[in-house]
Amino acid sequence: MSGRDDEVDGWAPETRLVRGGLNRSGEGETSEALFLNSGFVYETAADAEARFKGEQDGFIYSRYGNPTVAMFEERLRLLEGAEACFATATGMAAVFASLMAQLKAGDRVVASRALFGSCHHILTQILPRFGIEAVLVDGDDLEQWADALRPGAACVFMETPANPTLALIDIAAVSELAHAAGAQVIVDNVFATPLFQKPLELGADIVVYSATKHIDGQGRCLGGAILSTRAFVDDLLMPFMRHTGPSLSPFNAWVMLKGLETLPLRVEKMAANALALAEHLQAMPRVAEVHYPGLPCFAQATLAKRQMKAGGTLISFEVDGGKAAAFHCLDRLKIVDISNNLGDSKSLITHPETTTHRAISEAERRRIGVTPGLVRLSVGLENVDDLKRDFSQALSNY
Ligand SMILES: *Cc1c(COP(=O)(O)O)cnc(C)c1O
Repeated sequence: MSGRDDEVDGWAPETRLVRGGLNRSGEGETSEALFLNSGFVYETAADAEARFKGEQDGFIYSRYGNPTVAMFEERLRLLEGAEACFATATGMAAVFASLMAQLKAGDRVVASRALFGSCHHILTQILPRFGIEAVLVDGDDLEQWADALRPGAACVFMETPANPTLALIDIAAVSELAHAAGAQVIVDNVFATPLFQKPLELGADIVVYSATKHIDGQGRCLGGAILSTRAFVDDLLMPFMRHTGPSLSPFNAWVMLKGLETLPLRVEKMAANALALAEHLQAMPRVAEVHYPGLPCFAQATLAKRQMKAGGTLISFEVDGGKAAAFHCLDRLKIVDISNNLGDSKSLITHPETTTHRAISEAERRRIGVTPGLVRLSVGLENVDDLKRDFSQALSNY
């Protein structure tokens, strides 16, 4: 391991992201080695026995752990400030495992209503099949959280900022209510990134990521991660992951590990571009409303300031004229691509009503603010003046 623990403690996030978790193979490689192997060999049969008994350190099988995956986990763990991290094949694998590793029939989960489409599906379609009740609340309404938590709950699940409206949830306040009800708090922190929001410091128990988004950030690989206490990871998550198998591939871990090195540079630049673009869009006549947590006029600007270091890399806005006007804007953009991915170095735009939130009922969509004119924009690393010009031309002449 590069850096003894007491040394790493003094490192700022940027240093942790370049050097944290580095485990050189003995060949003296500069960049982290890619251990593209599924299995491991033992010197003796007794060594194998000791390793399986947990009496000897070392890897057993890449579904359980792998040196490249372990470097990724350690680097992300150091950034998050968590006791432990387990990497997963995708962000959805992280979400599902964080719930299924601890829930059982008869349990209740209370979650915010505005969620990534697949998270909504897990809560409302999959968990009930196993006798687990999911109660959805409007995330910004603390009274609804309190009411829903009153009968007790095993877990609270939330996404803040939420997809696609960027509505926020007060992590500290909901965590307090959740803990009083005996619930573990899981925060999907993808939109905020590990740099702009620290759910564990605000009272959450478990943080999940889709590493596919900002951590890779260049549209190459799927991946995810779960961060929590050593007790949760060792006692509940590890057995679930080992025996059900949604582990991260070493190759994808290597890509993510290298992605972490440049994460602050990319995400800070993308957030600066997002703020400038949000201001630009706000001044455009065809744009009815802009949602961006970094804008002073954002509906929850006070909460954004309290729990986020910056507004993030995503903007959503309402195009005047509904679906036809929104489609017109998307189709006319010359630089920005139409894609439902996010957190990429390329700016990407999507129309949630007909894509990411298509499977949710119309009533539920309206309730969380997904309207026909709403578009969601993931701001990339292009020159911001080029992006402004692209939106100016796309939102004119119709
Ligand atoms: C993308 C995303 C996920 C799922 O991640 P995958 O890597 O695509 O499985 C979960 N939550 C949020 C908020 C996301 O943006």
